[in-house]
Amino acid sequence: MKLDSKIPAGPIEKKWDNHRFDIKLVNPANKRKYRVLVVGSGLAGASAAATLSELGYQVDCFCFQDSPRRAHSIAAQGGINAAKNYQNDGDSIYRLFYDTVKGGDFRSREANVYRLAQVSVNIIDQCVAQGVPFAREYGGHLANRSFGGAQVSRTFYARGQTGQQLLLGAYSALEKQVGLGAVKMHSRHEMLELVVIDGHARGIITRDLVSGEIEAWAGDAVVLATGGYSNVFFLSTNATGCNVTATWRAYKKGAAFANPCYTQIHPTCIPQQGEHQSKLTLMSESLRNDGRIWVPKAHGDKRPPSQIPASERDYYLERKYPSFGNLSPRDISSRAAKQVCDEGRGVGPGGQGVYLDFADAIARLGEDVVRDRYGNLFQMYEQITGENPYQVPMRIYPAPHYTMGGLWVDYNLMSTIPGLHVLGEANFSDHGANRLGASALMQGLADGYFVIPYTIGDYFANANQPKVTTDHPEFRNAIDAATGKLNRLLSVNGKRTATSFHRELGRMLWDKCGMARNAKGLQEALKRIPELREEFWQNVTVAGESGTMNQALEKAGRVADFLEFAELMVVDALEREESCGGHFREEYQTEDGEALRDDEKFAHVAAWEFQGLEKKPIRHVESLEFENVHLATRSYK
Ligand SMILES: Cc1cc2nc3c(=O)[nH]c(=O)nc-3n(C[C@H](O)[C@H](O)[C@H](O)COP(=O)(O)OP(=O)(O)OC[C@H]3O[C@@H](n4cnc5c(N)ncnc54)[C@H](O)[C@@H]3O)c2cc1C
Repeated sequence: MKLDSKIPAGPIEKKWDNHRFDIKLVNPANKRKYRVLVVGSGLAGASAAATLSELGYQVDCFCFQDSPRRAHSIAAQGGINAAKNYQNDGDSIYRLFYDTVKGGDFRSREANVYRLAQVSVNIIDQCVAQGVPFAREYGGHLANRSFGGAQVSRTFYARGQTGQQLLLGAYSALEKQVGLGAVKMHSRHEMLELVVIDGHARGIITRDLVSGEIEAWAGDAVVLATGGYSNVFFLSTNATGCNVTATWRAYKKGAAFANPCYTQIHPTCIPQQGEHQSKLTLMSESLRNDGRIWVPKAHGDKRPPSQIPASERDYYLERKYPSFGNLSPRDISSRAAKQVCDEGRGVGPGGQGVYLDFADAIARLGEDVVRDRYGNLFQMYEQITGENPYQVPMRIYPAPHYTMGGLWVDYNLMSTIPGLHVLGEANFSDHGANRLGASALMQGLADGYFVIPYTIGDYFANANQPKVTTDHPEFRNAIDAATGKLNRLLSVNGKRTATSFHRELGRMLWDKCGMARNAKGLQEALKRIPELREEFWQNVTVAGESGTMNQALEKAGRVADFLEFAELMVVDALEREESCGGHFREEYQTEDGEALRDDEKFAHVAAWEFQGLEKKPIRHVESLEFENVHLATRSYK
């Protein structure tokens, strides 16, 4: 396997323009000869499917929910970044690029990040034209707020429902094409296998989640936009259906998996309430614009927050990182929260929480303004905890939220399997070891609306692949593999549910490969994961059958893949002997507990090649060159 990032030559600000001119085009009459299979209809998939169809390609789009509108993107609350500089506060494409490279702890590819920043301004125009109701200032201009890791206000938002509104925009664009018969939408279809013929991605195998039917789909290219894998931790802020199946099965067919150990732990989630909880809830980072984070100065101080005077509170982010304060990046804020809780200064049940306090903001701005900005988030918090955050501070704690790792892609968003393109959270491309807030929506829409429509044409124009149909024997093999796995799951007839295995796996990963990792813990996890996997295949119970709707079977299939994927994540974490962004190895830290990178040995992307489950995968390396933002120790002080 050779990793060729295909970064265009020339100065960074010209690369994308030059590339768009240099790559080949497909003439409009020929576009309709190509069929693209888009798996996923969240922001990345829906925007790609709509745009490719507008261009004239035949598109089939798949998702496992009953409607594209239910993709996990709908959950995004806080906002989407763009370098519009409407605030005139010093923003620019270069600054967004700089902040993102620095925020990612110098582990992302400069050229991709620069393009992302360039394209960010087009996204806002596109979405406004679609009617996305972004918040506006009194005079009519689009409003902005701030997110972590930036000292400018560049985040566009629609209250606390930005993802939902953006998804409705992309969904409208998609449905227009569905209405015209130009996109065939296959909801409630789960991709189980990728079909590779002569080294090129040529199709997929799906299971109809309502009828249980296994179907084969042939195309000229496959686009995976299947989201992230945070649910490997069992408890995460992601929708419970989010999974690694599509990307994992593509990995097993030859797509390199990059930086699987880079996971983001978000600092502001509602703390876990009990053992039987099945998911966690995010409190948007936007709340840190006005909320102040603190814990009592004294260990074990159990007084209610209202009785702790200001002089006895530790506003630890403001103290440690005065320049960025409560808007320090997520990895840094999460670790700081863990540190104060580990010291015994955490609040709430089990001391696993810190306060996010709006008392000062309410005194300064009035309750109405705060309600206007964050009303739905406050309501959600109250419904879940029974506490009124207008009166008492919210309690928050870090939780798994986003995955920077994903399938390796080149500058054209193509994986190591020609014809297999990967967009949005499913790829590894832009965020390095830590994603800045409000940048995932930006990346998903950049990939779908503005990158893949150009680069897929170049693939078609160069690939010259003969047409294939589902009669090709590789489709038969892939169907057999998919049905074989389903039947195996149903035949175990054991005693433990898939959920119980998932919970155990998640807890182990959180302990050994979560906010902080060390070699000993990682080695313990590496020993335990194969044992747990073995036990799963001996003792899992899956009720029902496969030729019908069977949610237990869906769940078991996803857990089986998590049990394989987790091992790769841990192997990757073990090999990366440095701390960077969301990957904090306890052995590598500065005296004051900050991440200590090793640029000499690890300024690279690690991309893994599958060798069979029993063998260690091969670790390939893409070196990262920093020609525009010079490698430096990240500081938010
Ligand atoms: C609570 C929360 C709040 C967030 N807030 C923000 C925010 O304010 N700003 C920001 O920038 N980011 C935010 N994020 C991150 C952001 O929402 C996601 O990274 C982004 O929406 C992912 O989009 P996507 O299109 O890549 O994937 P998704 O929206 O997850 O879509 C995945 C799609 O793939 C389909 N799929 C998956 N597997 C299969 C399969 N095997 N077969 C068929 N279909 C499949 C699904 O059905 C779905 O359609 C937030 C995340 C969370 C969890």
